[in-house]
Amino acid sequence: MIDTHAHLHLPEYDGDRERVVTRNFAMGITGIVEVCISHDRWPLVDRLVKADRRIHATVGIHPHEASPSALAELRRMEVHCGRDEVVAVGETGLDTYRDYAPLEDQRALFAAQVGLARETGLPLVIHCREAFAEVFAILDREGRGRVRGVFHCFSGGLEEARETHARNFSIGLAGGVTYAPDRWRPILRYLPREALLLETDCPYLRPAPDRRGRNEPAWVFRTAEVVAELLELETDQLVEEADRNAARLFGPRLRSPHLASSGEEG
Ligand SMILES: [Zn+2]
Ligand SMILES: [Zn+2]
Repeated sequence: MIDTHAHLHLPEYDGDRERVVTRNFAMGITGIVEVCISHDRWPLVDRLVKADRRIHATVGIHPHEASPSALAELRRMEVHCGRDEVVAVGETGLDTYRDYAPLEDQRALFAAQVGLARETGLPLVIHCREAFAEVFAILDREGRGRVRGVFHCFSGGLEEARETHARNFSIGLAGGVTYAPDRWRPILRYLPREALLLETDCPYLRPAPDRRGRNEPAWVFRTAEVVAELLELETDQLVEEADRNAARLFGPRLRSPHLASSGEEG
């Protein structure tokens, strides 16, 4: 199974990064989208994708890292967008829930990354916390209807899900779904399953019941179990569909056994 949103380049893995990668692939993970959060940490992202072809990178700067110098840092990273290992731009967006970076800097950085996704044709990984109206506005203005992607670790309600789907964006479900599954019923009832992606956002958001401690890619199976139960599906079927959705969005480099067996691989 593919984890569509991981941060194995963060310091939480500095002590055992290689062992984590090996263990998680041994546990049934078949692909990882390693989502870059800052220019400073790009070298570690780069090392991860070079070490294992099953790991794919995004190029981007997180809203929490927004600063007056971040735009110039983004320009320096853009060159990597043409590489085979790079499957998306982001994560980017707006976060007014945590006050880690000035909103002005977040807006400028988000607009630049929407533009980068539009110019490169890469999908966009969006982080949106308590800022849906403005995120949609910037996306519409800078994307001009030509950018696709995912609202990762979706935090909105039914109305935001409608707005997201109307823009042809997928909805990424992370461990948070396991904390209060009932809240997700109306959203899952509304959304076509083609719009769903599954992710960990590790090292954060380890699924229930054991929420404490560091998250890892293989915990995405737990989120899959809970979502499958809500959808009244077999977990295997949901995993197969979610992997297919991931490959459709991020490209055929995200290989999985299901795709290989159905001959969809390029
Ligand atoms: Zn995020
Ligand atoms: Zn993230």
